[in-house]
Amino acid sequence: MIRIEHLEKVYSDSGLRVLTDVNAEIRDGEVISIIGPSGTGKSTFLRCINMLEQPTSGHIWIDNADVTDPRTDIAHVRRQVGMVFQSFNLFDHLSVIDNVMVGPMKLLGMSAADAENQARDLLDQVGLLSKADAFPSQLSGGQKQRVAIARCLSMNPKVILFDEPTSALDPTMVSEVLRVIRDIASRGITMLIVTHEMQFARNVSTRVFYMDQGVIYEDGTPEQIFDNPQRERTQIFIKRVRSVSSHFDSRNIDLYGLLGDIHNFCFRYGLDSEMAKQVEHVVERVVDNCLNSLDDKRQAKLKACGGMDLDVAFSEKSGHVRMRLLAPMELGHILDPETVEGQARLDDLRSVCQTVEQGMHEGRLQLSLGVNC
Ligand code: ADP
Ligand code: MG
Repeated sequence: MIRIEHLEKVYSDSGLRVLTDVNAEIRDGEVISIIGPSGTGKSTFLRCINMLEQPTSGHIWIDNADVTDPRTDIAHVRRQVGMVFQSFNLFDHLSVIDNVMVGPMKLLGMSAADAENQARDLLDQVGLLSKADAFPSQLSGGQKQRVAIARCLSMNPKVILFDEPTSALDPTMVSEVLRVIRDIASRGITMLIVTHEMQFARNVSTRVFYMDQGVIYEDGTPEQIFDNPQRERTQIFIKRVRSVSSHFDSRNIDLYGLLGDIHNFCFRYGLDSEMAKQVEHVVERVVDNCLNSLDDKRQAKLKACGGMDLDVAFSEKSGHVRMRLLAPMELGHILDPETVEGQARLDDLRSVCQTVEQGMHEGRLQLSLGVNC
């Protein structure tokens, strides 16, 4: 369906060489998730595929037509390649149904009656038939993105490119959009999806591209990329997105910021809100406990001994979230089971965590907590 050879993109204004040598072959019906750090050229890559951006060199074939060939009818290619953007890009002055009718009428010469029938059908598929006559400004972000998907489908594309379709959404609206995308994926349309939703990428894709430094640095099945990445940069990236880490060496930490990060992290992994609440709750209690125990003297000691580290990680294999707190030995037990207070706090944690373990890790005290999903 799509073949890419030695794709290079240099932005002429900045001279920045964003894509250096991208090669890929994508078969009909494949669903490819593209992950990687920001600024590595994922969006540029998608924009080159549908010629919103002119490649500097290299070739892209879509359905045997070389879209980089100046003789190729670019308008025709664009009609076959739909794109869904982070920012929806709906026509705000048109009603929802008009947004979904305008493309087929203007570009495919479809009659108004046929376009309307098709639009109603597509809006039904994305769950928004009841909003047909509403205007985009009356919709939530998740609803707007579902309309954008229906509009994309209205052109009957062979390939759909999604560029971070859920990044602009409030976390509570992510899943409705992912559900719609998953639905489309199951129908066998070829799709490339740039996403930060790792659990979704794992479930929906046939293959994952890890992009870094202007190339597809590693490419494999979701199992390979997420569970057993072969190359160093992929390993570092996967480890980083799988966990939230926080280092602190004083009482003044941004607990709300940390809890926000943990909330987003839980969301990225599709944990239900009950689960997410539980994880946030445990972190809040543990961190609060630690901070409360820090008088000025202990705080100075903590600083001098390199501070504490908290990390929260998700294990897809065992399906549990592990929270780990590491503290210097010099501070004494994190939760001392010998004291009445320590024991009470441990019991308290045991009531919400399946595993509670205290021990040592690389010369530091470790409190390890597990919550099953
Ligand atoms: P990603 O989607 O992986 O975050 P992008 O493709 O958006 O990466 O951007 C890759 C790099 O190219 C970034 O450094 C970005 O600033 C730069 N870039 C993106 N678009 C343009 C543009 N139109 N002109 C110049 N530089 C750009
Ligand atoms: Mg991008």
